[in-house]
Amino acid sequence: MGVIEEYIPDSGTYVKEGVIYSKIVGRSLVDLLNKRVSVYPLISGVAVPKVSSSVVGQVGNAQSDNVLVRIFKIGPKRLSGVFSGILHISDVQDRYVDSMNDVCKPGDIIRAKVISEKNQIYHLSTAEKDLGVLYGFCGRCGNLLEQKRYDMNCPRCGNVEKRKTASDYGKEEL
Ligand SMILES: [Zn+2]
Repeated sequence: MGVIEEYIPDSGTYVKEGVIYSKIVGRSLVDLLNKRVSVYPLISGVAVPKVSSSVVGQVGNAQSDNVLVRIFKIGPKRLSGVFSGILHISDVQDRYVDSMNDVCKPGDIIRAKVISEKNQIYHLSTAEKDLGVLYGFCGRCGNLLEQKRYDMNCPRCGNVEKRKTASDYGKEEL
């Protein structure tokens, strides 16, 4: 599954001579944010993201062309395990996007769809109307941003930012 120099072994795994093995039959997941490898047992009723699942997560590390997302909800189900996904700039929306900075920022809560799970990493898309940022936070002061017609405004410090919002921005119960 990985070597311990790269990943921290997590639940459902064991280490032998520096290599991480799976203890149970299940799905192994690579948590990119914490560099952890976990195995989740395949029990019916345990929610695991799949291709076409709608997920909600928090934006973590951001690069100019992608962000990592810590998934904590699949559909209406809250998760206890940690799954991470990656949102690439080409999957944000149908038209061209200049910078990930105009899409979402670390700390934001987004809804996305799983479009692939290649190499045990969930690749996400926010291209549909109901997908995108659900809660965006001011890059300057951290306050919740209010959605105006074209921009996002911070009611506390007056900062103006951009986001790719979901059609129901600010309404999802977390
Ligand atoms: Zn602010």
